[in-house]
Amino acid sequence: MNDDRLYTIDTIRIPKRTTVCEWAQAHHYLKRTASFFRYDKYPFMVEPTNAMGNISTTWGVVIQCPSQTSKTTACMNFLGWMCEYDRQNTMVILDTANQAVNLSKNRLKPFLRDICHIHNDEQAITNPDKSNSSVNISLGTGANLILGSAKSASTLCSYPSKYVILDEIDRYPTALEGEGDPISLAMQRQMTYRGLTLFTSTPTTVEDSRIHKQWLLGTMEVWSVRCPSCNKLFSPTWKDIDWTDENVPTTHCPNCGELWTEADIICMEHAYAQLNDNPQTDKYKRILRSFSINGLLCHAQYTWHSLREYERAALQIGEAAVASFRNTRLGECYTSPTEIRIDHVELFRACGMRYDDSCIPEDIDFITVGIDTHETGLYMLIMGWTLDLQYAYGLSYHFLAGDPDEAGVWQQLVEQMNRKFTRADGVTLMPAFAFADVGGHRGNAVMTNSLLNPRLKPCKGFASSGNSTQIDPLVRRSFSMNFTNGIKGKCEIVEVGVTAGKDALLQMEKLTLAGEKHLGFNHKKCFDLAFFKSLTSEIRIGSRWVAPQKGAQYNESMDCAVYSMACARYYYDRFYATGKDREAVYRSQPKEQTEMKKKIEQDEAVEPKTIAKEKAKRGRKTKQEAEEIKTEKAAEKVPEKSAEPKVEPPVKKFKHL
Ligand SMILES: [Zn+2]
Repeated sequence: MNDDRLYTIDTIRIPKRTTVCEWAQAHHYLKRTASFFRYDKYPFMVEPTNAMGNISTTWGVVIQCPSQTSKTTACMNFLGWMCEYDRQNTMVILDTANQAVNLSKNRLKPFLRDICHIHNDEQAITNPDKSNSSVNISLGTGANLILGSAKSASTLCSYPSKYVILDEIDRYPTALEGEGDPISLAMQRQMTYRGLTLFTSTPTTVEDSRIHKQWLLGTMEVWSVRCPSCNKLFSPTWKDIDWTDENVPTTHCPNCGELWTEADIICMEHAYAQLNDNPQTDKYKRILRSFSINGLLCHAQYTWHSLREYERAALQIGEAAVASFRNTRLGECYTSPTEIRIDHVELFRACGMRYDDSCIPEDIDFITVGIDTHETGLYMLIMGWTLDLQYAYGLSYHFLAGDPDEAGVWQQLVEQMNRKFTRADGVTLMPAFAFADVGGHRGNAVMTNSLLNPRLKPCKGFASSGNSTQIDPLVRRSFSMNFTNGIKGKCEIVEVGVTAGKDALLQMEKLTLAGEKHLGFNHKKCFDLAFFKSLTSEIRIGSRWVAPQKGAQYNESMDCAVYSMACARYYYDRFYATGKDREAVYRSQPKEQTEMKKKIEQDEAVEPKTIAKEKAKRGRKTKQEAEEIKTEKAAEKVPEKSAEPKVEPPVKKFKHL
């Protein structure tokens, strides 16, 4: 030992305790570079590493950092220091058992043998009581080093340990079946000691990241630079980098606004800025110290341009890759770019209309049904659509109670499918087509009934394909599905892109809230607040739709609306646009009306946008207008009964032609 680390009390020489960093720089010899470990490349690790050795004031250390920033080395340096000054039972927990074995074989055992002079293998040969497995290493003096997986409750509960090292905690399972949270389990083994717990990980998303949650409990120290202009510490983040000049990106000091380049930042004084003066303490009044490091300030590991390249590559792959880039390269928690919620009370107010089966809005071109199949019955939503699918009206929402395996519920459905709705201009419509989902355990029943009913089609919802470069259509393709439970036969199923459907619905909801009535629902008829709550129960986070209540069957009306919309798209493409409109026979349109429809269809074929504009120009009917039409109709109908049917088209119609 070097003399400068020793001092004498009379004749007894007692080694002076060094900090963990000092120990590492004096003892951690790297064969590869033929030199001792230096912290020059990892200046951000000095403070956290020294905090680990300071167990009189610190009960835990949290390190949230990017990958490749030597956090495992920091843990090993701590182990080496511990072996020298306070050799005690220690537990190292990794995310999987394989990781534990790899770490032990490739790094820990050689480290303990070469640096700490713990000749575990020889001990095991001479003394069979000493352990020599790769996950249970004897440190001598009765202490053991246990390596385990966060997935194994037996390791987590095995030994009382003074020191617990939890590595990559964001990859741990949230709970072990019947045992609870792996982190709590590991920490319980520490209760009798005044020890230390070490948490390290690269973070994940803000909502899920455990390292971030743990970081928030501690001193919240952020690796920062001191702005020469205002002398305050700040930490640049990725979103603050201005790439207008690709060659010389800049960032600004949030305190004084001064612009700095990467070269300027590298030259500045680096230090930790502490954000929380009131960290969590244990029963001995020791504190939790938490550190966060951003990849932008890991100059030896990443340059800004190298990070930019990683981001570019990630953007080409998709959102998950971008999230991974933010987490592992920058050490930042990933926050989804947008989160969209629709307030169901506001939507309820904005959608309100008044009509009934005998007087539905005039601009409904056809009616479709979306059915959500449950084991206890069918949720069905009947909706009226305009040709461009930009405007929709809820006509009826029902729960047809009864097991779909029984015939009763399907009989009720047939009755609903034959229900007649009369438009304000006198045209009578029936539901043209229905989509019923085959999800759950009643697929056979849905498929069987679809074969019996030509207006019913089974469908299956699929979330986005995950490929962000490709636009996900609402109606994707049809495929043939076999009956289950040993029944022979196949049935054609339509794949529905539910993300596209939910997006389109969201767009209509937004426009409606903005005052353009793209959605109409009659409050008096089954479209109550509960319906709207269910219709808006899912939120859009980034490009995904997320149901806040997992497993709760809460979004049936949203599913029904999406199936109904997909059904409308399918019906329009397959039947209406090709002239095979099954519903045409139910219409009693005046001649001029039919010609107009033909003209619209031709226009549609030539240039679909024109018709969309035309539709928009037509405008929506107000309540009063609809009432007026209703009374006019009633007045017209009386003489019509005796006269020849419909010589003149309704006066109102001309306004829109
Ligand atoms: Zn400044």
